[in-house]
Amino acid sequence: MFIDFETFRTRADKVHALMQAACRATGRDPAGVKLLPVTKTHPPAAAEYVARYGLPAVGENRVQEAVEKRAAVSGALRWELIGHLQSNKAKLAAAHFDRVQSVDSEKLVGLLAKAAADQGKVLPILLQINAGNDPAKFGAEPADAPRLLAAALARPSLRVDGLMTIAPLGATPDETRAHARRTFANLRRIRDELAATHGVALPELSMGMTGDFAEAIAEGSTLIRVGTALFGPRE
Ligand SMILES: *Cc1c(COP(=O)(O)O)cnc(C)c1O
Repeated sequence: MFIDFETFRTRADKVHALMQAACRATGRDPAGVKLLPVTKTHPPAAAEYVARYGLPAVGENRVQEAVEKRAAVSGALRWELIGHLQSNKAKLAAAHFDRVQSVDSEKLVGLLAKAAADQGKVLPILLQINAGNDPAKFGAEPADAPRLLAAALARPSLRVDGLMTIAPLGATPDETRAHARRTFANLRRIRDELAATHGVALPELSMGMTGDFAEAIAEGSTLIRVGTALFGPRE
């Protein structure tokens, strides 16, 4: 049985309280950090709860799952792709997502740009960077980020909002927290450099999940992607 709305509301209130505490602790304005609930593996009701709670968007990591779920959900939610995108799904992703956070190659930039142009729209994207140098994680290498950004900025059918990363896990909770701090500080540094060298703002830093969002907020996250703390463990 999936959780009921009251359970979701209580958890979402708690996550917001923790976000505010993390902001206070580091002197940040809470208005500068948004919560993106991650509804992957959960039923359409999860996305309906998010809309009813008053949040504007959800994150999904599989194209096909999101397309089916979105068709079953009423309301004005925005849908963001946060999972790895295969080339053969780029057209479908451009058609069904309001933003793609997982753009990690020039090939994907080209495919999404062409699909968005063919569909007569401008697709917002984030560039996913492997800022923790994690061999197990997707994301462009930091050294390739300038070329990737230049390729995306050259496409009028794409709008680059900022960067996204996933921190590598450590062997212990302490090590995981340390990896997280280092990864998130690195992403912010990469963003600052790219913004300066390319003359663009790149305001969005999508970083932080259930286990590390306090660290992410301390390092400048503007968007945390949270699944487990809101919907419980995934099967
Ligand atoms: C699943 C997922 C999340 C949410 O993870 P939780 O630990 O459940 O909060 C965030 N970001 C990405 C890219 C994910 O795939």
